[in-house]
Amino acid sequence: MQYLEGRRYVVMAIFMLVGLLFAGRLFYLQVLDDSYKAAADRNTLQRKVQIPFRGLIYDRRDSVLVQNTPVYDLVVVPREVKSLDSAKFCRVMQLSIEDLRLGLRLAKKYSRVKPSPLLLNLSTTELASIQDYLDDFPGFHTQMRMARAYKTENLAHALGYVGSITPAFLEKPKYAKYQPGENVGISGLEAYYEPTLMGQRGVQYRLVNVRGIDKGPFRGGEFDTLAVAGQDLHLSIDAELQAYGEELLAGRRGYIVALDPRTGELLCFVSAPHFQPQALTGKGMGNRYMDLQNNPNRPLFDRPLQAKYPPGSVFKLVNELVAMQLGAVGPGTGFPCNWSLVKCTHRHEYPSNVTIAIKNSCNPYFYQVMHAAVQRHQVANASEDLHLGLAQWSKLVKSFGLGDKLGVDMGHENSGLIPTPERYDKKYSKQVGQVSAKRRSRSYRGWNFKTIYSLSIGQGEIELTGLQTANLMATIANRGFYYTPHFVRHVGKATQPLPEYRQRHYTGVDTTLFKYIIPGMCEVVDGRGGTARLASLRQFGIAVAGKTGTVQNSQGDDHSTFAAFAPANDPKIAIAVFIENGGFGGSAAAPAAGLMMEKYLRGKVVNYHHRMEDWIKYGNLTIHAKH
Ligand SMILES: [Zn+2]
Repeated sequence: MQYLEGRRYVVMAIFMLVGLLFAGRLFYLQVLDDSYKAAADRNTLQRKVQIPFRGLIYDRRDSVLVQNTPVYDLVVVPREVKSLDSAKFCRVMQLSIEDLRLGLRLAKKYSRVKPSPLLLNLSTTELASIQDYLDDFPGFHTQMRMARAYKTENLAHALGYVGSITPAFLEKPKYAKYQPGENVGISGLEAYYEPTLMGQRGVQYRLVNVRGIDKGPFRGGEFDTLAVAGQDLHLSIDAELQAYGEELLAGRRGYIVALDPRTGELLCFVSAPHFQPQALTGKGMGNRYMDLQNNPNRPLFDRPLQAKYPPGSVFKLVNELVAMQLGAVGPGTGFPCNWSLVKCTHRHEYPSNVTIAIKNSCNPYFYQVMHAAVQRHQVANASEDLHLGLAQWSKLVKSFGLGDKLGVDMGHENSGLIPTPERYDKKYSKQVGQVSAKRRSRSYRGWNFKTIYSLSIGQGEIELTGLQTANLMATIANRGFYYTPHFVRHVGKATQPLPEYRQRHYTGVDTTLFKYIIPGMCEVVDGRGGTARLASLRQFGIAVAGKTGTVQNSQGDDHSTFAAFAPANDPKIAIAVFIENGGFGGSAAAPAAGLMMEKYLRGKVVNYHHRMEDWIKYGNLTIHAKH
């Protein structure tokens, strides 16, 4: 039954393809119109397109990830078909009689003299058995074309896939030169770098007489062009690190994004659960795609770029930097851990400075930091003052590349969300008319600090993507600037990154202020009672600076997040890990990040860390006390 379904899909695909080819005949040579008319009296002008070799894709160590391979289709030329023994044909080709009839009807509709595909992506066994019988079935031939082949089982979300161009693509000016039936990058890097990978197609114009005999090149070939092969992409992704990360999170939902803060080069891009890039190519692709589409864990969803999660406590770092920039607090500012403002994560020492506050992730401390930042008594009216303060806050937060697309070389990046005061005005404007005159003087916009205080601990309306969180760590690692994160180190024979990736982006926070938050981040990992001890690489002499987050989830168990960079004083990797329903940030996301950094910085993971790997892969992550 399943096999029949598969065949039906193939014929459906052919139906679309043939429909497209048919429509494509209208494309014919408008430029050469006049010459065409002159020549058409005796001969037909045939346009032969030569498809160039598509560029390959390599990882940062020059291992091939994606290459080209020949695949074979069974095609039919209707005029050549004579006295077909349909029953025998269907038996040999493992095709139903209905599918054969449909295929032949569509082929005739397209052209009686040109080949139309009947079965796509024959397996080698099928090819061999079919070729034995082809002499018995005049009019049927096998035809070769190039398809993508994968040397990796990972990175499917970033690589994207290649397929036949769809009608929707053909309508875009960008794809004006494409012919129906041609291959095109449908998603991911294959789509983003399509012009680079594709190269330039060659075109030859031949004169063919009424009997179909080639009469030579049109006008001596003066309109002919040669195909130019596509250029290779050299990715910054470390294929081994990528494979390791996908394995760690295979049974989870979430992401791991790591980049080199010194360049903005992405080192790994894990979206969990993952799938193999092979799934979206070749025979049976339609069925596999539908299976992935129907999977409740949504493996096709590109979480690092598209999922927007509240950042949780990781965001306290941004709030501290912004408050310092606004002059509201300094590194030595202390605030009491006052549980009447907001519940704290746990009981801890008095947060007399920012290092102790970050180490303990003290909620009341950062409530007061944010309050001081957005209510600075710049104007007399408290509501106006908050409005003004929050606008300044929002502008500085956005200067970290948050709340907007970073501009990664991928088409489907999400912008996340950083709220503005106008957003709250709009949200609460309906209530304004209902509040009493007395309250209106204090809170006449319908909202006040109590309404928005959860921003201070990274909850509420704030949403960040995984890429933004990792880039935030790179920005702190660099003490105040970042390079636009990117997948492609260089293209073709070039050795330099593309110019847009060589430019530093400074935040609105003074570069001298970043050093004040880093000791607290180191305490989180290596300090006594730190919340992310499992991310420590101290035994290897490497200091890790990081921050855990536990994101409340109304739908179920809390989400676990951890973001970090290492080595703290000479950063080579910045990382963000998010595990849905992973419970407390320190228990799941932190060890996953620690292992990834160990793997990248040391090239391997020590044996005694295998228990930690098993814990992340198979452990019941939410059994530990949340704090
Ligand atoms: Zn506290």
